[in-house]
Amino acid sequence: MSARTVRLLVIAMLALALPFAAACGGSEKKVTIGTKFDQPGLAVKKPDGTMAGFDVDVATYVAGQLGFKPDEIEWKEAPSGQRETLIQNGQVDYIVATYSITDARKQKVDFAGPYLITGQSLLVRADNTDITGAESLQNGKRLCSVSGSTPAQRIKDKYPGVQLQQYDTYSACIEALRNGAIDAVSTDEVILAGFAAQFPAAFKIIGKPFSTERYGIGLRKGDSELRQKINDALVKMQRDGDWKAAFDKNLGPAGITAPPPPPLDTGTSAGPAQGQQIWSKYSGQIFRAFWTTIQLTVFAAIGALILGTILAAMRLSPVPMLNWLGTAYVNVVRNTPLTLIILFCSFGLAQTLGITLADPKSPTSIADSNFRLAVLGLTVYTASFVCETIRSGVNTIPLGQAEAARSLGLTFGQNMRMVLLPQAFRAVIVPLGSVLIALTKNTTIASAIGVAEAALLMKEMIENTAALLAVGSIFAVGFLVLTLPLGLLFGWLGKRWAVAR
Ligand code: GLU
Repeated sequence: MSARTVRLLVIAMLALALPFAAACGGSEKKVTIGTKFDQPGLAVKKPDGTMAGFDVDVATYVAGQLGFKPDEIEWKEAPSGQRETLIQNGQVDYIVATYSITDARKQKVDFAGPYLITGQSLLVRADNTDITGAESLQNGKRLCSVSGSTPAQRIKDKYPGVQLQQYDTYSACIEALRNGAIDAVSTDEVILAGFAAQFPAAFKIIGKPFSTERYGIGLRKGDSELRQKINDALVKMQRDGDWKAAFDKNLGPAGITAPPPPPLDTGTSAGPAQGQQIWSKYSGQIFRAFWTTIQLTVFAAIGALILGTILAAMRLSPVPMLNWLGTAYVNVVRNTPLTLIILFCSFGLAQTLGITLADPKSPTSIADSNFRLAVLGLTVYTASFVCETIRSGVNTIPLGQAEAARSLGLTFGQNMRMVLLPQAFRAVIVPLGSVLIALTKNTTIASAIGVAEAALLMKEMIENTAALLAVGSIFAVGFLVLTLPLGLLFGWLGKRWAVAR
């Protein structure tokens, strides 16, 4: 081979290999960081796709110390309620997102830092005069915060009289505050200041902060090597003055002066809470939540029994129009998921059409309205099953009886009331019991619109204690205590009242 051919071959091989090397290198070297996309001053995703804010600068500095250039960072939105899950599932390497270090969260993830200390505060419209602090919210004011955040939890624990609306993001709360749907927003002062600066003259922050929020960088539990590296990066950022520069640049315009950078935590993570601690802390709330479950079941059962009987009468009646309507109702409602029906009641009826089923001035209007809408949804859904159960009961009655009743001169209504329905009910007591048991369990869907029943409390307890098995078992037993006796009772009644033929 001549020297020229060898040279050509080497060039050709390099030309082939280079794109591969670049591709491999490129895909390997990436860090995924979770942050907020909608909190001005802290972390915002701008329309051109670039990121800005104090949290973004801290995250970028840390990434730099870990060996990643800014263009090797992939940003992932980390809403308050999803942060632990994002870390546990490995969807992010670490999270810098106004993320308070708490014992409950330390059971699921580890934290580096803290890198900033702030506190919970209140934001109201600039022309408001009657909200002076958290206490003053208790007389029927509507407050917005974010689900899965420490401020929302603190309001629920300390100020149970406040009507709390929870959304997934603070920008949704700010929008509701602007259009008057709620009266105040509560979260950390730095977050509120960022929003206040974005809409000057529209809002004001009320009073002094009433909690201590220590922002940490969340990472996978047990990864002490990464935690140490991030802590080293934070120390360097503070020592070199980059920390203060980032604070002044991002939060200075919002009128907050940089506090002294906090010392780092040395403590290690906590283990999950134990069954006994959980029970002593939550037993009162568990009974209250199951009481709501029982109330939902009883009201919806009464409604469904009435509506279901009317529907069954319609489907059995000789009037074709009623017959058709009954059949259409059953087929549409029975085949629609209950979650959709309940969400429709809340978003369709209440929010879009303004049918809230509660006095908007009442101090408990949000909770009352959600409860009644859930009863409505459960009634509408369960009625279709009740209707079909009763209809099958009517089919057990020999045809001759209805004919005999007609020939005696009874009208359709009299025939239904005096001959058919009494026997039909007695024939279907056991299957009606099954419908009632299904309804009891279906009430858990009401948690989707924020009704404080058993499933909602279960979610909150799992979030706060990280003891999935213990909490799950408590609620499973709770439902068994409700449903087992129902099954036994209906079985016994069914035997006792069976129609002897
Ligand atoms: N720092 C609080 C928390 O971590 C509130 C801010 C937020 O929701 O991101 O829950």
